[in-house]
Amino acid sequence: ADKPSMQVFEQLESEVRSYCRSFTTVFSKATGAKMWDANSNEYIDFFAGAGSLNYGHNNPAIRRKIVDYMLEDGITHSLDMATKAKESFLTTFDETILEPRNLTYKVMFPGPTGTNSVESALKIARKVTGRNTVISFTNAFHGMTLGSLAATGNGYKRAGAGVALGGTAFMPYDGYFGDNVNTVEYLAKMLEDPGSGVETPAAVILETVQGEGGLNVASRQWLQDIEKLCRKHDILLIVDDVQMGCGRTGTFFSFEEAGIKPDIVCLSKSIGGYGLPLALTLISPKYDIWKPGEHNGTFRGNNLGFVAAEAALAYWKDDSFTRDIKGKADAIRSTLNRLIEKMPEGSVKHKGKGMIQGLSFTEPEMASKLCGLAFERGLIMETSGPFDEVAKLMPPLTIEPAVLEAGLKILEGCVDKLAA
Ligand code: PMP
Repeated sequence: ADKPSMQVFEQLESEVRSYCRSFTTVFSKATGAKMWDANSNEYIDFFAGAGSLNYGHNNPAIRRKIVDYMLEDGITHSLDMATKAKESFLTTFDETILEPRNLTYKVMFPGPTGTNSVESALKIARKVTGRNTVISFTNAFHGMTLGSLAATGNGYKRAGAGVALGGTAFMPYDGYFGDNVNTVEYLAKMLEDPGSGVETPAAVILETVQGEGGLNVASRQWLQDIEKLCRKHDILLIVDDVQMGCGRTGTFFSFEEAGIKPDIVCLSKSIGGYGLPLALTLISPKYDIWKPGEHNGTFRGNNLGFVAAEAALAYWKDDSFTRDIKGKADAIRSTLNRLIEKMPEGSVKHKGKGMIQGLSFTEPEMASKLCGLAFERGLIMETSGPFDEVAKLMPPLTIEPAVLEAGLKILEGCVDKLAA
């Protein structure tokens, strides 16, 4: 069938719109890892709402809980009043996620989205330490409000701020200068040399895998060394797990494998279970020095979000989901390695880990071309990286193996076309 017209969006929606320019159709239905447009064209979703749909579209078990809650006149909006839905979520989150990992955090609800969580993390770190600067990394992405944008290493997005963005010193992320430069040593030197001009910061904020920044993966060692450096200088360690959390890299928290314990963790996107806005800031209890109401927001009590979030935690009651993710991640990796062999040597390399992997092209336009071809053939994939040079595969974690295989098959056809 033909694709529906985009005319209304072109006429009425702001020029800032972006994804609808890559995926030029009008979507109307979705289930699991499949989406349909208004003309019944089917698409396989390797995008998963930029990481907000780890449990798939309209996950039936989660939907059941939300619908039942609504039919029972459950509270939907409550600012930060105490509700049964929040009580139940907090208890389940503590029992299912924190306790088994030996983690103790106070849970803050900073507002509805990822950027709210990052803002609150940066504010509390500055309040705790009385210091101004935070250290962030090349190609980091932390959000679009001024505090989090100041910690975002993306010139195009920063330019949109229209005001001076301050308070951040950028350091090279793991691998920024290739494999032979240890960027933690570089950071240590900058912090310890009074001549470097770098003040002791309030916090270091990092993603363990840079999602928007091109699927750059920090090594275990690098993360452990950063943690050590933070402890040595009494710097708070903030892990922004907004995109990599909730299983994207294979474990619930992306930092688990490295065995580090951040002082503050930012969660959003898939914590809302069903694509509903919800954000958490996890704060080490000794740093939870907020005064009542010092940071607030009208939508910090999205009870449908609590209900969905709690239902989604059922996936984390044992380690079967982790094993399931690993199996799919291995399948993606072996397919990508095979596809790389089909392309001219040195033109493309593998990036990412877990269920966020991609192909990074030496010629960036190849990545957009690949995603464009994929869309024409019914596969939704986005680019990432500073030059949009990475074609990113990010399906729902719950994708059925047959659908994953079908998506990879479409991708293979597109790579064959590119290579021809
Ligand atoms: N941090 C990271 C690592 C992200 O990937 C994003 C969103 N892409 C954000 C923060 C901001 O989240 P939101 O768009 O929900 O404000």
